[in-house]
Amino acid sequence: MSRPSPDYKYVCFKCSHHTSVTQRMEFHVRTHTGEKPFGCEHCDYRSKQPNDLTRHMKLRHPNVPVKWKYKKRK
Ligand SMILES: [Zn+2]
Ligand SMILES: [Zn+2]
Repeated sequence: MSRPSPDYKYVCFKCSHHTSVTQRMEFHVRTHTGEKPFGCEHCDYRSKQPNDLTRHMKLRHPNVPVKWKYKKRK
């Protein structure tokens, strides 16, 4: 895979996705590996997207505070 630009430090091994942010690439690669890093602590629900987990929490566990297994970035 040729690098589209030297400005991008990371190029996906499976597609042409590229970024200069480590976390973004880690997150992107998971979309290929099928790993779902965002897991609900109250049931078996797992998601690739943090937004999906937030939505799940509101729907399924409206009375418990949202806990993140991954640190939120600022
Ligand atoms: Zn990719
Ligand atoms: Zn749940």
